[in-house]
Amino acid sequence: MTVRGRIAGRPKSGHSAGIGQSGSRTAGERLRAAPQAVAITAAVLVVALTAVITALVSPGGTRTAAHTTAVRTAPKAPARTPGGTAHPGTAGHAPAAPTYPLVPDSIQHAAETPGRAVNITIDDGPDPVWTPRVLAVLAKHHAHATFCMIGPQARANPAVVRQVVAAGDRLCDHTVHHDEAMDKKPVAYQQAEIMDALTMIEQASGGARVSYYRAPGGAFTPASRAFAAHHGMRPLGWNVDTKDYERRGVGTIVRTVKDEIGNGPTILFHDGGGNRSQTVAALDRTLTWLHTQGYAFSFPKVN
Ligand SMILES: [Zn+2]
Repeated sequence: MTVRGRIAGRPKSGHSAGIGQSGSRTAGERLRAAPQAVAITAAVLVVALTAVITALVSPGGTRTAAHTTAVRTAPKAPARTPGGTAHPGTAGHAPAAPTYPLVPDSIQHAAETPGRAVNITIDDGPDPVWTPRVLAVLAKHHAHATFCMIGPQARANPAVVRQVVAAGDRLCDHTVHHDEAMDKKPVAYQQAEIMDALTMIEQASGGARVSYYRAPGGAFTPASRAFAAHHGMRPLGWNVDTKDYERRGVGTIVRTVKDEIGNGPTILFHDGGGNRSQTVAALDRTLTWLHTQGYAFSFPKVN
C-alpha cells in the first residue's frame, strides 16, 4: 500500500490525451449529406411539433433532468462505465444522474492559496487508528490536508471518512486496489478502479465531494486522467515524497521536507499501510517548521 520509487506525480504515459474529440462533421461531409437534408428537416419539424404539443398538454413538464443527463454522459472511452448507472452520492436530491463540475485533466501540483503555501496530502487510508491522530495534529496546527483514500478502506471506516470531512479537509480517490501497474492495464480496468473507489468514498462520506484523483504510484494515463476529470476529480501529483512509509526515523522524514520543499508545494505523507507513528510525529514537527517559515496550509487547485 505504499508508493515505491516512482517519480513524483509524473504521468507515465504521454500528455496527448487522444480522447475527447467530438464527432462533428467536416464541411465537406455536410455538403455531401445535402440530399438527406430534406428528410432530416422534416424529422426535426415533427419532433419540434411533438414537443410543442407535449408542452401544451402537460404544463410544467420537466425536461431539464433529461437534458442535464444527456450533457453529462458518454465519457469517450469505449469501455463500459462500471458503477456509472447506479451512482450514489446525491441522496435526497433530484432523481437525475449526479452532475460533476468540469475540471481540467492535467496533473495538478499548485496550491489554491497564492504566495507561500503548501498542500499536505495524506495517502492510503483511511485508517481507524492513524487517521484520527493525523487529524489531531492538523487541528493542533490549524492546518488542513487532502486525504487520498483507498475505496474499500473508506467503506470499512465511514466514521473516519466523515471525521475528515467534518474537519474541513478534502477527499481524493486513490482507487480500489492501489495497483501501481494499472497504467499498463485496459482502460476499462482503470475506470473501474477509479469509479468503484469514488462510489465507496462518496457513500462512506455521506455524499461529500471527492475533488481529486491520485493514481497509485503516479500510474496515470491520459484515459484515466480524462475519466477522473469527467467525474469532477482533478488529477493530483506531488512534489515532495517524504517516504515516511520507509520508517527511516522522524528526523529523516522532516529533513526530506526541508530539503525538497523547493520542488513545489504538494507534500506526500501516508496514514495507511502500517504503523504510522513516525508519520504522526514527523507531521507535527513539519507543520511547526513550515509555520515558522511563513507557509500557509492550502489545498491543491481544482481548476
Ligand atoms: Zn498510495
